Amino acid sequence: MTRVILALFFGAAAVLLGSGLLLSSQALLVSGIALTLGLGVGMALRRKGTERGSRSETSDTQALHPALLDVALNEMREGVLVIDTDMRVVASNRAAQTLFTKGDPKLSRLTELTRNPAIYDAFLDAVRGIERDGVRVETYVSGHKIFDLRVVPLRSSSAAATVGAVGVFFDISRLERLEIVRQEFLANVSHELRTPLTSILASAETLESSINGHSESDKKFLSIIHKNAARMQRLINDLLELSAIENVKVDVEPVRLFALVEDIVNSLSVAATEKSITLENCIGKDVEVFADPHRLMQMLTNLVDNAIKFNLEGGTVTIDHRRDDDDIVRVADTGEGIPAQHLDRLFERFYRVDRARSRNLGGTGLGLAIVKHLARAHGGDVSVTSRLGEGSEFTIRLPRSTS
Ligand code: ADP
Repeated sequence: MTRVILALFFGAAAVLLGSGLLLSSQALLVSGIALTLGLGVGMALRRKGTERGSRSETSDTQALHPALLDVALNEMREGVLVIDTDMRVVASNRAAQTLFTKGDPKLSRLTELTRNPAIYDAFLDAVRGIERDGVRVETYVSGHKIFDLRVVPLRSSSAAATVGAVGVFFDISRLERLEIVRQEFLANVSHELRTPLTSILASAETLESSINGHSESDKKFLSIIHKNAARMQRLINDLLELSAIENVKVDVEPVRLFALVEDIVNSLSVAATEKSITLENCIGKDVEVFADPHRLMQMLTNLVDNAIKFNLEGGTVTIDHRRDDDDIVRVADTGEGIPAQHLDRLFERFYRVDRARSRNLGGTGLGLAIVKHLARAHGGDVSVTSRLGEGSEFTIRLPRSTS
């Protein structure tokens, strides 16, 4: 049995490693070797298992000696762990062994190696036939480390029963640290810029209000200073908001959606009237969703605000709700639409279809990035569909309940 699991493991490890989660070119090279060796040795071992004693070793199994695979697997930075259906560890490489404090992974049950529920649940799911990807695992064995764990079931064919599971631990501690540095840098810079900018804005406003004695060109320059300082202030506020949101923890509670949307419609009615746009709140009066009310308000305000800004004179903005496994809130407009090639990148920071246009409309290019972060903080997501000349639909998906 162990021989079968190992044979499958070599093949599965190779596929896992070749699947693109690797972070460095060195790792990619190693995965290439592992792929070749893994598949080769996996198949060879399987063949040996079924034809044991009846045939001599072929030249390719001699060439792909398991010792080479040992070296390749042990030199990898990624930890590889394989278990059987009794949750016993049947193989591991050196990197995996350094992940755990207690015992020798080769001899232990998974529960003896680690009490980490994220690891245990991922392997248990895989043994039950469910592949798990992107499992975040934190360890404190030699300092604080963060891993991205992928675990797949081991089977001899897609229809066969699971005989174990193989997991690969990718160390993402460095990436996470860089991400924190980036976030802190952005927050600090924005914060530092805010004070001098407030003072420039205040001075420009004071000068503008004392109109006497200003020539026409003075007024023009003052207005340029004022306009651009105000724009920078909006940008900095959005950047600070975005950094705050990146780590936000949402407090979810039942929210009556109709009333919340009604507040948004009222607060944006002046902007809508200026362009003769009709705002339609089509939410059922009794609909309740699970969300952080303040954050949901922020998301929908951004979407409705855009739906007005990028709409045509006399257009319509509709906000409605439906329910499947999740609650789905949709903001649809009859505006100009978004060309298909932009849709994939629309939720990136500073991404704008038409920069000059967005700037003229007072946009910062951060509104949709904020919506995306907030939707994800709720455990949901946001998506867009659009048809040129017909309009766009932004859809927020919220889990029904967090429990
Ligand atoms: P902005 O501050 O420019 O509105 P957003 O992040 O909110 O930034 O939006 C990014 C870009 O997506 C906008 O500049 C615009 O090009 C496009 N966009 C957003 N919503 C719509 C919409 N409802 N219709 C057409 N284009 C839109």
